[in-house]
Amino acid sequence: MAATEYDYDLFTIGIGSGGVRASRVAAAHGARVAAAEEYRVGGTCVIRGCVPKKMLVYGAHFAEDLEDAKQFGWNIEGKSFDWVRLRDHVQSDIDRLEGLYGETLENHNVTVFRERAEITGDHEITLASGKVITAKYILVATGAKPHMPEFKGNEHTITSNEAFHLDAIPDRVLIAGGGYIANEFAGIFNEFGSKVTIANRSDVILRSYDPSLRDRLLQISLGKGIEFCFNVEFEWVEKQEDGTLLVKMTGHEPRVFDQVMIATGRSPNTEGLGLDKVGVELGKKGEIKVDAFSKTNVDYIYAVGDVTDRVQLTPVAIREGQAFADSTFGGVEPYAVDHSCIPSAVFSHPPIASVGLTEGEARNSLGSIKVFQSDFRPMKNVVAGRNERGLYKMIVDAANDKIVGIHMIAPEAPEIMQAAAVAVKAGLTKADFDDTVAIHPTMAEELVLLK
Ligand code: NDP
Repeated sequence: MAATEYDYDLFTIGIGSGGVRASRVAAAHGARVAAAEEYRVGGTCVIRGCVPKKMLVYGAHFAEDLEDAKQFGWNIEGKSFDWVRLRDHVQSDIDRLEGLYGETLENHNVTVFRERAEITGDHEITLASGKVITAKYILVATGAKPHMPEFKGNEHTITSNEAFHLDAIPDRVLIAGGGYIANEFAGIFNEFGSKVTIANRSDVILRSYDPSLRDRLLQISLGKGIEFCFNVEFEWVEKQEDGTLLVKMTGHEPRVFDQVMIATGRSPNTEGLGLDKVGVELGKKGEIKVDAFSKTNVDYIYAVGDVTDRVQLTPVAIREGQAFADSTFGGVEPYAVDHSCIPSAVFSHPPIASVGLTEGEARNSLGSIKVFQSDFRPMKNVVAGRNERGLYKMIVDAANDKIVGIHMIAPEAPEIMQAAAVAVKAGLTKADFDDTVAIHPTMAEELVLLK
């Protein structure tokens, strides 16, 4: 069939970060584009992930700021926290953002179907309403969903999806998992006054991060009153008459909590999409297998973002969507997204930010390395009387002085890291950092003063 014999040049299934970018850019390149979304336009990041989470992180941090304000001369009498007001305010901003995403697509003449879509044959998609559509290319950008471990009573638990809509902040919350979501929500709930317990199957948190940062976060979290249970599995959860949850974890007596939140990773959303009907190959976790150009084993089907389980981060999905649209419709030589040296952050209290190799990874892959470290108490914490120290770590290849990793845990670390990551990505050396004059007094100046 020639392109015009299809209803559209591109049909995108899933309008999240990757799907929006790919659809909008493909349309801007002149393609006739339609897209389908069964939930809300914007996807996990905008609707129930990064964006509302960051708003809650800001809200939560006021607990410490208001406490510290005394030492800066401020008397704040009668302060109180209204969860429902914050929750509703966050949700109304999410509504606004969803509207903006819809408008962007509309302005680019992307036809949006607000219903589920399934691949039902070669180049063929069927919508939940029964409408059948054909497209020259199909892009699957359906993201991922919270992984729910099997145990009796897991239907009584929540995931991050529900955490944004709670009626009240729980007095006692148990969070399963030790990754991004567990640590971010532990910080949020703790600042809002919950007694937080994290329970992980292993004995580490944030496995992929440099151990020094993980240890520091663990120490600070313990100091804030967050409890950790390691090497545990959930046996059962029972809902009691008063609405509380009785939880049995291995090696522990049953304990009572008001909420149990599961944050044990996210699984690709590939079920019921009809991928099997056209022979799209999946990996062990159900992820869509793609090549460097986000192409599946079926010539006209592509996939970007979390559904491919490459790097589960919004900015990566956006880049993959852009590269797909440019390469397929932009008249340029197809290009692949560079997945190396991706900076990342955990919006815990305090946050972590990282780029490049950890000390262990660098030792294994390079052999001879130099490690520079600054363990400091930020000025604001000193004045506030807050005994919380920051830690910066720089890993340098001893052979050529190139910086191969920077790892930070301290207030504003993610804001500082974005600029530092440019330097690491560009292959700058320790000497380049040393040559740069410090901005004083800042926390960031530690990066150019490492000895
Ligand atoms: P993570 O992959 O960060 O952590 C998963 C945690 O759950 C780990 O502690 C892991 O244990 C444990 N776990 C994994 N599988 C199981 C299982 N079958 N049963 C019990 N425990 C299990 O996942 P999250 O859910 O926290 O986040 C999902 C993804 O979303 C992240 O990987 C990240 O890419 C993205 N994200 C990014 C954020 C950011 O950029 N700031 C914020 C939130 C999410 P173990 O210790 O053994 O590894």
